[in-house]
This record gives sequence, C-alpha cells and structure tokens, in this order.
Amino acid sequence: MNLYQQRIARLQQAMREVGLSAAVFAPTDNMRYLTGWAEPGHERLIALFVPAQGDPAFVLTSLNVEQARHNPAGIADVRAWYDATGWQETVRQLLAERGIEGVIAVDDEMQSVHLLGLQQISPQARYTAAGDLMASLRQVKTEEELDTLARSAAVTDAVYAECLPLLREGMTERELQEGVALAYKKRGTAPAFAIVCFGPNSALPHHHTGDARLKRGDIVILDIGCVVDGYYSDITRTLAFGEPEAEATRVYEIVYQAHRAAFDAVRPGQTCEAVDRAARAVIEAAGYGPQFIHRTGHGIGLSGHEPPSIVEGNATPLQKTMCFSVEPGIYLPGRFGIRIENIVTVTEAGARYLNADPPATLPVVG
Ligand code: ZN
Ligand code: ZN
Repeated sequence: MNLYQQRIARLQQAMREVGLSAAVFAPTDNMRYLTGWAEPGHERLIALFVPAQGDPAFVLTSLNVEQARHNPAGIADVRAWYDATGWQETVRQLLAERGIEGVIAVDDEMQSVHLLGLQQISPQARYTAAGDLMASLRQVKTEEELDTLARSAAVTDAVYAECLPLLREGMTERELQEGVALAYKKRGTAPAFAIVCFGPNSALPHHHTGDARLKRGDIVILDIGCVVDGYYSDITRTLAFGEPEAEATRVYEIVYQAHRAAFDAVRPGQTCEAVDRAARAVIEAAGYGPQFIHRTGHGIGLSGHEPPSIVEGNATPLQKTMCFSVEPGIYLPGRFGIRIENIVTVTEAGARYLNADPPATLPVVG
C-alpha cells in the first residue's frame, strides 16, 4: 500500500468505528491528503466517495477525468459526468451500487449546492461534517510531513531575514510586499500570503497591505508564509523602524512572555485550551486582556489553517507531532499592534520550534 492507500485505509477504519457508511470529499486539502490529487473547486462537481468498506470512487466533470485517472492513490473507479446531463444520475448509480445509506460524512468545504443535490438524491441518509474525522487523521504528522513543514519554515525564515534590510523611510507597504514576493521567487516558491503593516496598520491583524509609507518610529508587522511541497509555513515578526514609543517596547516584552508561556505549556496530553490560557494569562495580568482579540494559534499542514485550534473551549489533548502556530498579539487601534508567531511541533519533551527563535526584545532597525 502506498501512502495514500494507507491514509484511505485509516479513514475507513475510523469511519467504521463511528458508524459512518461513507464520506464524500470536495476538491479540497482533504482530497489532496487522501489521494495526492485535487483541482481548484468550482461549480462543476468533483467528488471523492469513500465507502466504509470497499473501493473509493471519483465522480467528476468530464473536463478533469484524464487527470483524475492518474491519481497517486491508484483509485481506478473514476466516473465522468457531462454538462448536458448533469452529475445527479452518476452519483445516484454509485450510491445504489455501493449500498451507501445511513450516515454520510461530508467535506466541511463542499459547496452547498453540491451538498443540497446529494441530499435530494439520498434524502433518507443523515449528513454530518467530516471535519472532526479528518482532523483525527491529519493533525498528527508523520516524520516526513514534519520534515517538509520544517523546510517550508526555513524558506520563510530566510525570506524574512533577506527582506529586513529592504526597509527604507518613505517606502510603501506594497513595495516591501513585492520584496517579499521576489525573495520567495528566488527560492522557487511564492508567498501564500504576505501581510505588511506600517504604523497604526499594525493594529489590524488582517490589514490589507496598501500604500501607507514607512515613517521613523513606526511599528512594522510582517506576517508571511509559503507552500513548499504542499505544506505551509507562517510567521509573524514585529519590529520598530527607528526609535518607537516607549509603550511599544513594553508591549513587545509582554507579548514575547505570553508567547513563551504558551510554548512552555505545550506537552503531550495538555489541552489546546490550556495553551491558549497560558498565553492569555500573561497578557491579562499586564492589563491588555481586551486587546488580545484572537485565539493563540491554529494548526498547520496541507492547509494554512487546520486543526488543532489553540483556543478556549478546545479540550483536545495535544499529541506528539501535532503542529500549530503560537501567535499571541496585542492591538491598540489607531496606534500600533504587536504579534509574535512561530510554528511549533509537540515532542515528548514539550514544544519545539520549526522556525528560528523570535527576538526576545523589540528589534529596532533603520
Ligand atoms: Zn501568520
Ligand atoms: Zn498564523
């Protein structure tokens, strides 16, 4: 069995344990995880049906049939549907042949029109989100996946280091973003995202990089990542361009301590929410609790955001080789924001960074 066949076998085992009759996947990272193949999704149905027993099957638009036939999982049952007739009859036949009924798990990211169509074909079945099922498989990484994530992280670390000297008074956020893109291109990849924030824009965690110009005393946030061999990287670095206001230096130290507190809380068996609490306790004690407006982190792998979510209410215990971001932040609207993000993996001994260590004090450049 190759890697993908093993993953499908593990999925089927997990499905039988919870009494699912089948799972159906859209062309998402789940499909890529299970088969090594996926296309960008669109209104034409591309679906992978995995029954709890027996062989999986693709049902897809005639446009992608040839590509799907070469899927690395070696799935031989590839059924085309045509624009003139639609996909419903092909799916109806497949469900009948395989005796798929009962509870069907559905890809979290399947388009609602496709799910609604499926429900019309098989109204007596019960439908449930496949998210938890897939998380149980995908959030625990293999050595090979860890290796790829580390290579992806190393590329992003190198891009950050290369872009630091590009900072010039008067340059725009977009110009620095172009520098980031070029640095990725030199390394054979491209930014999956590159958020560049100057001055007060740093107080917006999802700022849209624009035409703001760099001024002395500005706080600068770079939140960048890429995909290497299918796996994401994601770091945030905060620095000051010239001497910043005193509070920024102090806030950086608080965020760094929160980051380290979360890092130190990581160990197998610890819950995700305990890691979030560890970071949050430091920021709350310093009086900035209401300014930490998001979770402490998110899982990472084939998707940029995936389980486990490091958030209050998630009692999932950490397991060895899980990978996630630790990214506490404090945001003072209209003034500045500070966020420090690294990717960690869980080892027997606790957390280990996949990235270079973040600076312990606010770096001042320029
Ligand atoms: Zn990020
Ligand atoms: Zn992140």
